[in-house]
Amino acid sequence: MMNSLWHTRAASLNIDGRALIGGRRVWAASNQQFDDVSPIDGRVLGPVARCDVADVDAAVAAARAAFEDRRWAGQAPAARKRVLIRFADLVLANTAELALLETLDMGKPIQYSQSVDVAAAANCIRWYGEAIDKIYDEIAPTADNSLALITREPVGVVAAIVPWNYPLIMAAWKIAPALAAGNSVVLKPSEKSPLSALRLAEIALEAGLPPGVFNVVPGFGHEAGAALALHMDVDCIGFTGSTRTGKQILQMAGQSNLKRAWTELGGKSANIVCADCPDLDAAVSAAVGSIYFNQGESCNAPSRLFVEASIKDAFLEKALALMPRYQPGDPLDEATVMGAIVDATQMKNVMRFIASGQADGARLLAGGVATREDTGGFYIAPTLFDQVDGAMEIAREEIFGPVLSVFSFSHIDEAVREANASPFGLQAGVWTSNISKAIQAARALRAGTVHVNQYDGDDMTVPFGGVKQSGNGRDKSLHAFDKYTELKTTWIALDKLA
Ligand code: NAD
Repeated sequence: MMNSLWHTRAASLNIDGRALIGGRRVWAASNQQFDDVSPIDGRVLGPVARCDVADVDAAVAAARAAFEDRRWAGQAPAARKRVLIRFADLVLANTAELALLETLDMGKPIQYSQSVDVAAAANCIRWYGEAIDKIYDEIAPTADNSLALITREPVGVVAAIVPWNYPLIMAAWKIAPALAAGNSVVLKPSEKSPLSALRLAEIALEAGLPPGVFNVVPGFGHEAGAALALHMDVDCIGFTGSTRTGKQILQMAGQSNLKRAWTELGGKSANIVCADCPDLDAAVSAAVGSIYFNQGESCNAPSRLFVEASIKDAFLEKALALMPRYQPGDPLDEATVMGAIVDATQMKNVMRFIASGQADGARLLAGGVATREDTGGFYIAPTLFDQVDGAMEIAREEIFGPVLSVFSFSHIDEAVREANASPFGLQAGVWTSNISKAIQAARALRAGTVHVNQYDGDDMTVPFGGVKQSGNGRDKSLHAFDKYTELKTTWIALDKLA
């Protein structure tokens, strides 16, 4: 393997797989561990604590104690803000280490781990830090003889369960608004990518977050994850992951203490390109770039591409010309644009979908094969299917890999109808220079976000989440505070006061 700067850094990196509970790094009470495998080359990075019910109990107890004695919630908003801003600064100061952990753990290119993942996580923490002292409570317009105060209070102990595709960003989207609002948090990262979250919580302590306020319990979903979802002393659960697991989370929340449960789930987003698209090159590069970014392992990836029949040939020719840029490379090489698939299981899933597309009669125009097999890692060439129709499995299921399915249409209503014929509703795109067509399509598309003439609109100021089976919550923006706060009304009878 090539000996770049990042390989040298990787060789001397400290891998610490212990949980972080009550401010201390600890192994699971059972002493059970699991191997954390890098998808770059199949190498074991190190052992990770396999937390279960006992560790989750300890973490929830630490979070509860921190909440009850108000060591964090009781601090003035300006004081909490200072800690979170220091936390964001320290995340940035540790960019190289966090980016390396992210890339080694889940295979994304090191250039994006630095410029996207670490940067966005720090930005998110800073944004909620900045927001804390800009939120005011309300006084309701009641009669003269009474005063009704509407205040926002933290919910208490928040559990956050996150997936492996953007480990730091998904963690930050949950913990930053929850902590800003004064809650205590227990975070369970994915068993496929636990390392950056553990380091994140250590950095939070360094920034001055009191011990017990932010705990991390690595482990498997059916053990640590289920223990959190079923816990009687967790007040709220913020979940991001698959629709299948999301349904289980809602059931577990209901069958335990009816904790508030927020879900951010899967997607099968549709991107519609009309013949009157204002900039075909931009549409092609957004369509291709967005599906292959992060190896296609993005919930909002526009995996269904609808192209108006009259421009489809021209579109595909331009799309195929971009394919060489997305050939997988060594994730530790700064020039690499597409890295490794997260693990052998996910690799097998994606290859099975590719075989199913071929068996169903879709036309494979590019990729469809494993590459870089000599590395011992998991890599799939950027894959493009044409002539996909709505009945095929690759048109309906979330593949979560570098596979783009192309459909054609002759009228936009037909494309919108097909786009909506999915149980998912995370995002959608529409490309047209006709403003009324754009607005009508944006209104008709059932998705949490619709992009018009772009697919990369993204900012902390806007909510992120879906409709239908893509989930029931919104991360980011001030709206995320709704998930992690309760509204309290206090009535005061003014005419009874001295
Ligand atoms: P997953 O559902 O398998 O796992 C997500 C998390 O849930 C992991 O931490 C896992 O350990 C845990 N988990 C699994 N089973 C559990 C159980 N029975 N009880 C409690 N916890 C359990 O999903 P994944 O494969 O890690 O992530 C990919 C999925 O996440 C895709 O469907 C993707 O679309 C979705 N996702 C959605 C968003 C969004 O904002 N909507 C963002 C990123 C990813």
